[in-house]
Amino acid sequence: MIEKVSALYDKSCVCRHCQATFTTKRVRSGSLTMVHRDTDFFTRFKEQSLNPIQYTVSVCPACGFAFTDQFKEKLAPWEKQVVDEQITAKWKSKDFGSIRQVPEAMVSYKLAIYAAELTDQPHSVKAGLYLRLAWLYRSQENLSEELRFVGMAVDEYELSYIHSDYARGDKEMSEVRLLYLIGELYRRLQKFDLAIKYFGKALAFRNTTMESGIIRMAQDQWQLTREEHKEKQNEQKIG
Ligand SMILES: [Zn+2]
Repeated sequence: MIEKVSALYDKSCVCRHCQATFTTKRVRSGSLTMVHRDTDFFTRFKEQSLNPIQYTVSVCPACGFAFTDQFKEKLAPWEKQVVDEQITAKWKSKDFGSIRQVPEAMVSYKLAIYAAELTDQPHSVKAGLYLRLAWLYRSQENLSEELRFVGMAVDEYELSYIHSDYARGDKEMSEVRLLYLIGELYRRLQKFDLAIKYFGKALAFRNTTMESGIIRMAQDQWQLTREEHKEKQNEQKIG
């Protein structure tokens, strides 16, 4: 518990819908020990219960609007109205501002996804929410729910690629990184043709990108996808 107390701090937030102020926990950077990074960038820490993704979403206790730092700063009047009708009118005050367990973190993501869909947030923002929720299910070894949300994430990442809004949701997201990630999510969904198509698009950046780590990952995962694809075809022949 001492570890938790020192790694978490209270961040003051202003609700982007009703302007109420409230606090939400955040994880102090540098307070965790990384143990593994999955091929779709899910980072696992020694202090599992302190994974920062559990604290990404801020939930306004007054009106129920849930958002992340990547949401648009301001809502348009029509968006405010729809949030009033679809979220605030039905909201029973609940405080997400203390230590969160995984199930509570999952609820915070579902609230943020609902709010993001209602208020027309960029595809990249929605994609990031779906993917992080999928990771939480992975951390609970719930594969079917994980893959359900990976599917929704990849749809939004593809739209984000088409509309070029990927830098808006995540400052670290570049085109080559996005193409790699779409490929990797398709691989996890066993949509091998699409996976290979997107790894190919990423590999086309081989001579122009500084992100050689991504190129290496794209090569490895492209190879793995071909093997998995072959294996599946053999299984089907035998079956
Ligand atoms: Zn609010």
